Amino acid sequence: MADIVDAQTRSRIMASVRIRGTRLELAVQHAFRTAGYRILVNVSELPGSPDIVVPELHTVVFVHGCFWHRHGCDKSTTPRGHGLYWRRKFEENVRRDSRNRRQLRRLGWKTFTIWECQQERDITRVKHAFLALNRRA
Ligand SMILES: [Zn+2]
Repeated sequence: MADIVDAQTRSRIMASVRIRGTRLELAVQHAFRTAGYRILVNVSELPGSPDIVVPELHTVVFVHGCFWHRHGCDKSTTPRGHGLYWRRKFEENVRRDSRNRRQLRRLGWKTFTIWECQQERDITRVKHAFLALNRRA
């Protein structure tokens, strides 16, 4: 499949790739690679520095921790005390996430979010959900 960005952009993207890699991110990266996708990781050139970019599918993947990104599952606890501080912090994160997704969509990228708790349950299901998303597209 033809590359979706020109060589100059590609080398800029490659140069921006840095090793971060929590255990969760590494597991997800591994899942995509074994599914046969060529992926880029931590692409700071794109809004929100997506954790994984699949250029051939024009799709970006965020691997979100449930606590910081407020998944709404039982991992999204709110610490006791400093209520206002946490509320503001969480609101900021959620606003930033949706702004990033909006900007990415405007740039023509599909976005896909993998939550920490999903991955722990079953990475295979996450992978199938991702594949289904791209079949629909
Ligand atoms: Zn969750």
